[in-house]
Amino acid sequence: MEPNADKLRGLTITSLDEEDDELELPHQSPSAIGGVGVGAGYDDEDDDDDEEAPEVTLGFLEKPKHPGLLLRHLFPSKAGGIPAWLDPVNMPSGNSSCCGFCGEPLQFVLQVYAPIEDNAAAFHRTLFMFMCPSMACLLRDQHDQWKHRQGNPCRSGCSAKVFRCQLPRSNAFYSIEPPKHNGSDKPLCPGAPVCHWCGTWKGDKICGSCKKARYCSEKHQTLHWRSGHKSDCLQLISSSEASSSVLPSLGRVPASKYWPEYEIAIDYEGAFDSDSCDEGNSKSLVMQRPGKPDDMMQSWMDQFEADADNKCWASFQERISRAPKQVLRYCRESNAKPLWALSSGCPSNADIPSCSYCKGPMCYEFQIMPQLLYYFGVKNEPDSLDWATVVVYTCQGSCNQSVSYMEEFAWVQLYPTTTTRP
Ligand SMILES: [Zn+2]
Ligand SMILES: [Zn+2]
Ligand SMILES: [Zn+2]
Ligand SMILES: [Zn+2]
Repeated sequence: MEPNADKLRGLTITSLDEEDDELELPHQSPSAIGGVGVGAGYDDEDDDDDEEAPEVTLGFLEKPKHPGLLLRHLFPSKAGGIPAWLDPVNMPSGNSSCCGFCGEPLQFVLQVYAPIEDNAAAFHRTLFMFMCPSMACLLRDQHDQWKHRQGNPCRSGCSAKVFRCQLPRSNAFYSIEPPKHNGSDKPLCPGAPVCHWCGTWKGDKICGSCKKARYCSEKHQTLHWRSGHKSDCLQLISSSEASSSVLPSLGRVPASKYWPEYEIAIDYEGAFDSDSCDEGNSKSLVMQRPGKPDDMMQSWMDQFEADADNKCWASFQERISRAPKQVLRYCRESNAKPLWALSSGCPSNADIPSCSYCKGPMCYEFQIMPQLLYYFGVKNEPDSLDWATVVVYTCQGSCNQSVSYMEEFAWVQLYPTTTTRP
């Protein structure tokens, strides 16, 4: 979109290269976020975190060491690729899986394995984030956020959705024993078939001719048809056995249809030396941030807001510069606060809805950072995604309901130059 985001990414990446060895810290191996090992209750001795200021856990992206590492029965935290559905049978479908604006099926962003130690129903717990890859939809989403500020708080996140899925230790899908990570781990049952086009959503629509190809939506059926299923379909009808050469098997969807896949490695923010940040850098970044003068600085009020935003932006940059490769910030402590990029686009308490299932309060749990766009190779084109941060609020009680995937609340904060206001 604007060159600012690129500049930011460029800068942070350069200053990062010297810190590469810092990222290889010993305690980044657990795939669960929030300081607990895989399966909150598997190992009760791990209970030694001291209760001081909320410690923020950071997520960094690494190329998976081998392909079998990010499968659902290993309870991964991962970004890009296709989701490793925790409940592999009752995935969200219909409108839940589509952008509320353009109607296209959403694209998988990341999943965070974050079990809760003292909640038996959330022995396994994963949060899944999806987004529409269209910036136009994210802008409409952002616009709706502002609109709803005056009236009733209303669920936004129509182009950015987060689902929470949780399971007790004893469940139909996984062994009650923790994975051994020696190649012998297996899920207890196969998952529901997924769409042959996106590999992401449930494939509950079947091609009427070959009765073999499955789709999450008509859109994906059409795309698949145009890109070759038209001829493959005839082949499938004539061949009695389901030929895997014509229909890709589960998880073998061409990589062009999703963002590149990474494993999320975690580390505590406190492990990064705050002295290593270069204040000069973050200051100059603020100065260089190009605004659209006609949109931005129309009045003294706007000027005032911009000053507050610049301050906020500077401290956002300073905080990130301690570990510039971070793509995720996680903290579920009750006094945890998100790190806002701009002061003018923050929700007030009234803007955060209550849990739409149990009506209890929602609290901040994690946020994703602009650096993720760099790893996803998102280009700087007019309709390319661009955000400052997306902050996710989840049910404080992590309530247990009959629905497998509970929709949580995401608040999108864009750069000021891309923000639309009423
Ligand atoms: Zn959309
Ligand atoms: Zn699909
Ligand atoms: Zn067909
Ligand atoms: Zn709830």
